[in-house]
Amino acid sequence: MSMTEKGYLVAVDAPLKEALTYLPPEGVSSLERGASVTVPLGKRTARGIVLKPTDKIDPGLALKPMLGADHTRPLLPPAYMDWLEWLANYYVHPLGQIVETVFPPLPKEGRGSRKSKVVNDDVTPAPAPHLTVEQSRTVEAIQKTEGFAVHLIHGVTGSGKTEVYLRLLDSVVKSGKQGLVLVPEIALTPQLIDRFSRRFPGSIAVLHSHLTEREKTDQWWSVVEQKKKILIGARSALFCPLMNPGIIILDEEHEPSYKQDEKLKYHARDAAIILARNLNIPIVLGSATPSLESWSNAQSGKYQLHTMRERAQAKSLPDVEVIDLREVYRQRKETPSDLPHWLSDTMFEALEQTLSRGDQAALFLNRRGMAQTAQCQACGYKAECPNCSVALTLHASSYLVCHYCDYSERASELCPECKEAPISAIGLGTEKIEAEMARLFPNARLARADRDEIQSRDDLEKLIADFESERTNLLIGTQMIAKGLDFPKLNFVGLILADLGFHFPDFRASERSFQLLTQVSGRAGRQTSGRVLIQTYNPNHPSISYTLAGDYLGFAEQELNERRELLYPPFGRMALFRIQSAQAESGNLAGKRLVHRAKILQNRFEVFKEGIQVLGPAPAPLAKLRGKFRYQIIIKCDSAQKLNALCRQILSTTDWIPKATKVQVDIDPFQMM
Ligand code: ADP
Ligand code: ZN
Repeated sequence: MSMTEKGYLVAVDAPLKEALTYLPPEGVSSLERGASVTVPLGKRTARGIVLKPTDKIDPGLALKPMLGADHTRPLLPPAYMDWLEWLANYYVHPLGQIVETVFPPLPKEGRGSRKSKVVNDDVTPAPAPHLTVEQSRTVEAIQKTEGFAVHLIHGVTGSGKTEVYLRLLDSVVKSGKQGLVLVPEIALTPQLIDRFSRRFPGSIAVLHSHLTEREKTDQWWSVVEQKKKILIGARSALFCPLMNPGIIILDEEHEPSYKQDEKLKYHARDAAIILARNLNIPIVLGSATPSLESWSNAQSGKYQLHTMRERAQAKSLPDVEVIDLREVYRQRKETPSDLPHWLSDTMFEALEQTLSRGDQAALFLNRRGMAQTAQCQACGYKAECPNCSVALTLHASSYLVCHYCDYSERASELCPECKEAPISAIGLGTEKIEAEMARLFPNARLARADRDEIQSRDDLEKLIADFESERTNLLIGTQMIAKGLDFPKLNFVGLILADLGFHFPDFRASERSFQLLTQVSGRAGRQTSGRVLIQTYNPNHPSISYTLAGDYLGFAEQELNERRELLYPPFGRMALFRIQSAQAESGNLAGKRLVHRAKILQNRFEVFKEGIQVLGPAPAPLAKLRGKFRYQIIIKCDSAQKLNALCRQILSTTDWIPKATKVQVDIDPFQMM
């Protein structure tokens, strides 16, 4: 072999930490960064993507040539290649396994040319309305910036953010470029797609997880070949390369569903910002309740803030009332009631009136996961970790445990605050509510919407269609559907137990509650003015009082002050190590060793000495799942770079991990279960 021979680093689709070096395929003299290739890997053939040429070739190594270049796949533009490398690096994930997610599942041409039903192009084009003052101010300010900039639109629901997006996209499309619009999966309804399609007939592509492989492939190519100008999608649409990009828009930027919890644990908002930076284009984030991360970036001037306070169309707001369940508890101690303890007479009567009028009602339970939280029914007291300010959860009915730092205490027989009632587990689920409702309202037409009932997009669309056509009239659900509450005959919404939201063993519990309460309490514009009741044992909780006052700024300020003290995001960065093992002892041992490794690194390296807190190991809130014991370790750090370096070092060897035990790291975790 000649001296001038050049090798190439290739990110191979396999669970390998590093890229591999190959010679070019026979008869090919040079390859470009971003080219798709096939390579030999052991005895099999694997797909890969070319990163760059390398001359750092170990002379003792017999390099293998690649098998061929894959010309059926387009060359990935440099900005996307840089972005994929950033993702791999930032989220500590093998690059080769990310690259494959860029491409569609099937080869390009399907047999025959079926007309795609993904986007309804048979729509009557809709003219653009005259913008309100706030809308035009926002559009102009965004269009004034050149190249990369992050814009945050803080606009109450109904302020016309979507109309602003449409206007921005209009300019982008007119200049011959493409736009990407990301929305939470659940918001990607046919109604939304039609709204875009009416404005840009024939120019819309859609990508979400419930399309068939053929549909995904066709939609992907229509964007890559620039037949479609606007791609609307859920978080994974971010991976579809725009060859002529003009703007990225990400609606409901605070939505936790933008974070992927498995495989590559990326946050679509953060990843989209990096992508926009690489592409040198603007990105627009929108929300009525921005995440505190984005909010503080807007406060510091890193993002440009645009505020929209008025609704685009005048609609009356529903009345929102808070019901104090402590009062209900006291009254029922004197006069027992046939109603369950979580249902006040007021809520019961409101339901009865609504249904007998022929209107519709919805009941919500803001439940996530299955962690056992506990509180006093007489005073609403909940136990909090003295170190971490997160709710303690109940284990074996007798211990209260912190899932961050492993602090624990015996659950006392009587509430330590009021000494009136025991601290008991909140064992309320949607099924139980449904059963009670069937008993109390035998004529109601019930529908239940939770993760057990609604498994697919079709389920969700059927649920909405049934409610719309009044085949059902009493909807019981978790927060997953709180968003889609846009029904003309829906006149009553009840939140059964706001406290469930306050008690998530998660530092974002208050923020999430505030977001949900704001959504449910119909600051959101709806067709009719209705009534909203919020039941709680903690009527003075800041999430409730700030929601009622419609005071996002006040809430953000108070919540940020609390987070600052404990180095929680956005002030510190966080990494969560999840450990899963078939044996409890192995899982615990892995956790202890991991903490020990972190301590050793802190002692050895100057950079790690300051600004790092290692918490745990603690049992995860879901301490056992699918036969696996689960532990977690949280690392808080004052810098993202430092945290990244530490996590990499911890995982640089794996010989300390016991058999049948898995250790994974989640950077900027959202789901603490
Ligand atoms: P958001 O995205 O902030 O919730 P939308 O863009 O969906 O708000 O607007 C809320 C409602 O107001 C929609 O029915 C929309 O058609 C209407 N709307 C928005 N902008 C205007 C406008 N400039 N003139 C008239 N109606 C508008
Ligand atoms: Zn703690």
